[in-house]
Amino acid sequence: MDITVPPEVEDLARRTRDFIGDVVIPVEEEVGGSVHAAPDELRRSLQKQASQAGLLAPHVPKEWGGCGLDVRGQAVVFEEAGYSLLGPLALNCAAPDEGNMHLLEVVASEEQKEKYLRPLALGEMRSCFAMTEPAPGAGSDPSMLSTTATRVDGGWRIDGRKWFISGARGAGFAICMARTSGAPGERGGATMFLVDAGDPGLRIARDLETLDEGLFGGHSEVIFDGCVVGPECVLGEVDRGFQYAQVRLAPARLTHCMRWLGLARRAHGIAVDWAATRRSFGGLLGDLGMVQQLVADSEIDMAASRALIRHTAAVLDGGASGGTESSIAKTFVAEAVNRVVDRAVQICGALGVSGDVLLSRYLREVRPFRIYDGPSEVHRWAIGRRAIGQRRRAIEGGEQPRWQRGKEGPS
Ligand SMILES: Cc1cc2nc3c(=O)[nH]c(=O)nc-3n(C[C@H](O)[C@H](O)[C@H](O)COP(=O)(O)OP(=O)(O)OC[C@H]3O[C@@H](n4cnc5c(N)ncnc54)[C@H](O)[C@@H]3O)c2cc1C
Repeated sequence: MDITVPPEVEDLARRTRDFIGDVVIPVEEEVGGSVHAAPDELRRSLQKQASQAGLLAPHVPKEWGGCGLDVRGQAVVFEEAGYSLLGPLALNCAAPDEGNMHLLEVVASEEQKEKYLRPLALGEMRSCFAMTEPAPGAGSDPSMLSTTATRVDGGWRIDGRKWFISGARGAGFAICMARTSGAPGERGGATMFLVDAGDPGLRIARDLETLDEGLFGGHSEVIFDGCVVGPECVLGEVDRGFQYAQVRLAPARLTHCMRWLGLARRAHGIAVDWAATRRSFGGLLGDLGMVQQLVADSEIDMAASRALIRHTAAVLDGGASGGTESSIAKTFVAEAVNRVVDRAVQICGALGVSGDVLLSRYLREVRPFRIYDGPSEVHRWAIGRRAIGQRRRAIEGGEQPRWQRGKEGPS
């Protein structure tokens, strides 16, 4: 795996770092990292400045208005963007738009790309991805999908209720997953639909109050009620929605890891500087072995996270689906960034939970990452099943079980 960073990516990362420090962090501090209900003017102003600095949409191919980075390049630049809670928004590489841009790039028709991908990449509109439903609908188990799309004269009629739809308020369109065959609890077929904001069949029922406040537009409950769309609104092919969800999910969970690693690095930096300057018990906090251990464990967590992210990025750039690698990276990094930010709060003592630094805001922001894009338990379940399933098939195919002494085959 080639994980060397080319000079042009180094340059983009360095310019991103400067932009985040000079332009974005002052805005982040002004709003306390809280943008769920921020005015769209804030987003537009940040993205305009990023565009002028040549930093907008680093992940989008140049033909659609971005910088054209591959996944390995994104790993380096997104970490720099994530150093501020508002960095990904400023560079237009925040969830859910970033994942939606990738999905559109891979699956959409040329007309759909012109209508949705180009303005999304240029920051002229935002979007949302509507998959999760309140119980008993789709959550960790997508086969519970209950929202339906039925054929009607002139297209499709969508009915259902979605929740935790990030960025729905203010979005120009939604990508909605709806069942087009089978029944809830069966796999069956799902289809993705592009639904424009303002459609009379689409409305926001409420904005959810959540632990995090750093995602622009917040998270909403959304209702599709007799929402009729034309055949041109089908994204890709009918009944292939579950496969397309995988196209979106593996890279999207990795880009989350990249961004949150940047924020963990920021939190850790604050804590290390506190340990290096705060005097206690006749010396510095940083002279104490237990504080050194907290710092060392965070250094190890971040280095291991970065290595897993860059390895998985190389796998994805190589054309593989990277399902197992991205599950491993997502599980480890989601938990590691929580540990790093939590340790940073601990090292800083009362300062860490005060509003004088944004550490407690960061702690609240990283916590939900252990749940969305697959809870840790679901990824562990998938990783374990795959590892055991692979060996079971090999043994059924004639290989000796490796527990039989003296008969180990190739590993
Ligand atoms: C901040 C945030 C933003 C989100 N944004 C979006 C969005 O934009 N669009 C969207 O569609 N969805 C979004 N979601 C929803 C998210 O994808 C779901 O929360 C996630 O898929 C889990 O589904 P659930 O919440 O229904 O949990 P459930 O499926 O009810 O699971 C609850 C818990 O049960 C355990 N569990 C579940 N399955 C297993 C298993 N197989 N083995 C062991 N334990 C298991 C896990 O601990 C899990 O956390 C968001 C969620 C959050 C928190």
